[in-house]
Formats: sequence, structure tokens, C-alpha cells
Amino acid sequence: MTGGGAATGLYLIVVWIAIVILAVVWICLPFAVFGIKPKIDEQTKLLREILAHLKKDEPVGSAQAETVGGTKLKAAKCPNCDYMLRPEWTRCPSCLKDLPD
Ligand SMILES: [Zn+2]
Repeated sequence: MTGGGAATGLYLIVVWIAIVILAVVWICLPFAVFGIKPKIDEQTKLLREILAHLKKDEPVGSAQAETVGGTKLKAAKCPNCDYMLRPEWTRCPSCLKDLPD
């Protein structure tokens, strides 16, 4: 066997390994797609809910009371723009006005 023949044999082995790896990836692809699909559907549902809130011009999650450290807090809204506020905020992040205590 000449040196050129050995190089050709090595080249064929590398090509064969590449083909095998590509075949494995190609076979796994549908499982990856169908594995991701429920997560994408969930994200789409969430985004549609957010869009519905935005179209009605109301803050997202305004109907829910927040629980911090086991204590249920009443949902607070900015008196100027009705933005949903956290209790520790002293300034509304939406309209940038200082909040009354
Ligand atoms: Zn505000």
C-alpha cells in the first residue's frame, strides 16, 4: 500500500464518520422539534393573553394579588396611570411620577 492509498482510506473513514453523525442528527431532529412544540404553544398562549390585556389597555396581572414571604398583598395600582405596582416602589416605573404613601 502506498502513502497516497493510506491517505485516501483515512479520508473515506472521516467522510463515513461524518455521514454517520449527520444521519444520527437527522434522525433525532423530529424528536427535538416535537419536544419543543409544547413549550412554544405555552409561550404563544401566554403572549396572546398579554396581547389581549394590552389591547384592552389594562396592566397585565392586575387582577391577581401578590404573595411575598407568605403574606398576601393587595394589588396596588398607580393613581395616575393604573400601572401594577410593587409595595416597595416609591416611584411609578410607567409614568415616572412619585407615589403617595
Ligand atoms: Zn404611573
